Amino acid sequence: MASKKLYGGSLNQFANSFPRAFGWKVTFVDPDDPENFRKAITPRTKALFIESLANPGGVVCDIRAIADVADAAGIPLIVDNTMATPYLCRPIEHGATLVVHSTTKFLSGHGNSVGGIVIDSGKFDWRNGKFPALSEPEPGYHGLRFADTFGHLAFTIHGHAIGLRDLGPSMAPLNAFLTIAGVETLALRMERHCANAKAVAEFLKGHPAVAWVNYAGLPDSPYHALAKRYLPNGAGAVFTFGLKGGYEEGVRMVESVELFSHLANIGDTRSLIIHPASTTHRQLSPEGLKAAGATPDVIRISVGLESVDDIIADLDRALNKLG
Ligand SMILES: *Cc1c(COP(=O)(O)O)cnc(C)c1O
Repeated sequence: MASKKLYGGSLNQFANSFPRAFGWKVTFVDPDDPENFRKAITPRTKALFIESLANPGGVVCDIRAIADVADAAGIPLIVDNTMATPYLCRPIEHGATLVVHSTTKFLSGHGNSVGGIVIDSGKFDWRNGKFPALSEPEPGYHGLRFADTFGHLAFTIHGHAIGLRDLGPSMAPLNAFLTIAGVETLALRMERHCANAKAVAEFLKGHPAVAWVNYAGLPDSPYHALAKRYLPNGAGAVFTFGLKGGYEEGVRMVESVELFSHLANIGDTRSLIIHPASTTHRQLSPEGLKAAGATPDVIRISVGLESVDDIIADLDRALNKLG
């Protein structure tokens, strides 16, 4: 079962590829009320999946409350911590069982390598009858019982021995090198990303061409209290805002900026901008655009490490051209 407020690629993977490839059915619920997870859990539910800070809606989940629901049901909570990074949020301390990251974004940090990681808290007891792949003899490994043999390392060892062997998701060595080099400066970069993003969000909030700003770091965000609890060092650097104009202004905005790069990626050193309705979400109907938070007025930015004065001047010039 998953939050319905997730990165679009994850929504597609869960809704379409997982059922086709593995026969896994994913139920989606609104994560804003943790009770929604409790109500939708059935005896067949194997895990809950949320994003700590959702891409891109500025949605922050109550990790502890959702972890309690997972605990009560005897299933793991998996948290995608890509947008927050371990510098801003440490989900295991709030009850997460497994944490996943796209390292493509802030962890590698320079827009130069694709990758992902899984972190196992080692705290879950896989022998409660719901996870036979870990508790029962593994036919693909001469009858080994992973949970009995490896204890709190069962999930990790099974992931290596069976998952990597059979599915093959291994990282290219150069990507691993670039990612490790990137992680060395994560703290410094995130401090600057967050300070810049907050200043940019405040600037946008005061601009006459902007209708709304969706940034959990702003006091009027509905997620501000959760952000203070789970992201005390900053609310990340990726967020959306709405133009008072519509589709045409959105396209013009992206064409008018000079410092921002027009890209669908996030978490680069450089500031990035996209107008989802005319690009990444172009195939959706008006209803679909609304459900995805990608109405024609929406602009998404990933605030980079440049001088914040230059970032704001670039946005200001582009917004003023919209008239
Ligand atoms: C980008 C992203 C992913 C997918 O990452 P890739 O490295 O592009 O496969 C997953 N989750 C979140 C929250 C993301 O932003």
